[in-house]
Amino acid sequence: MSRYWSELAASLVPYVPGEQPKDKKYIKLNTNENPYPPSPAVLEALRGAAGGDLRLYPDPSSTALTETIAEYYRLPPASVFVGNGSDEILAFAFAALFRTSEPVYYPDITYSFYPVYASLYGLESVKVPLTDDFDVPIESFYNVDGGIIIPNPNAPTSKYVALEGIRSILEHNPDRVVVVDEAYIDFGGESAVKLIHDFPNLLVVQTLSKSRSLAGLRVGFALGHPDLIDGLNRVKNSFNSYTIDRLASAGAVAALKDEIYFQQCCRNVIATRERIAGQLRELGFDVPESKANFLFIAHPDKPAEELFRKLRDKGILVRYFNKPRIDNRLRVSIGTDEEMDAFVAALRELTVAA
Ligand code: PMP
Repeated sequence: MSRYWSELAASLVPYVPGEQPKDKKYIKLNTNENPYPPSPAVLEALRGAAGGDLRLYPDPSSTALTETIAEYYRLPPASVFVGNGSDEILAFAFAALFRTSEPVYYPDITYSFYPVYASLYGLESVKVPLTDDFDVPIESFYNVDGGIIIPNPNAPTSKYVALEGIRSILEHNPDRVVVVDEAYIDFGGESAVKLIHDFPNLLVVQTLSKSRSLAGLRVGFALGHPDLIDGLNRVKNSFNSYTIDRLASAGAVAALKDEIYFQQCCRNVIATRERIAGQLRELGFDVPESKANFLFIAHPDKPAEELFRKLRDKGILVRYFNKPRIDNRLRVSIGTDEEMDAFVAALRELTVAA
């Protein structure tokens, strides 16, 4: 009996998140967090909520947050689902919206949680190879025999599919659920939210972790036809009715209401990204155009693993993936200007011969 359980546990291969060091000695560019703090309005709202009635369970329907998101995107509240980070929503989407009799299609280089969820729910995965330039091959997603999940922009490649590409995938799969994971969309991409009215098979998933600096609060949301949202709610209520706690809900509402702060933060990250991408290209790095808050870089001579280790020794954490096709690359989150200047200076030392 015990052997059975240990074998079952061993068959699950969980997602391994990027390192979260306990001390602050590192410049942390490894998990795509926002380098800027959340809006001051968030802290105020958290203080208010902390002084409120934490003795009571939160609203299981997260009405205040759902309505705030609905208003922001001009959608009915029945088209909005909120969850404990978009990871939770993606897990619910795999469970609720993809059928076990059909495979799930996603790019072969992508967010490593997708294969984890597929295997957890007993779904077959079809991994669609990216082009040589790491682009998502749109036509390979036409008329498929299963569900589809596309991260846009993709991680860790930082590459972006223009809205017309997403539209044509939807047009070619009218009877399949298409999930677009827009964790990084606010850093220069155009959201597929505007396609929701035309495509009842589209679910757009977003997060407050990146562009709204709230990775620590764990809030994400999904937008789509009420039937898809209903599916997510059924799965949610089969696990835990109260996914959004009182503090997270108050903080998230405040973040969504501070549009000026949000826009400014995104502009800062984008400006830093473009400046640093230019400097890295001057140092000889290959830097694909990014629409995310990170860069996916490769040096022609210096192995990525060596750079990863040497940067770490210099107190700079970036992400290295020991996986086929991308083991010569580093994924580098966009930090503050000072952090990125230190990063470029370190790479200059490591790559330019004295
Ligand atoms: N999707 C993608 C593509 C991501 O990179 C991440 C962050 N690691 C997420 C979803 C999940 O973000 P969160 O759970 O913090 O909302």
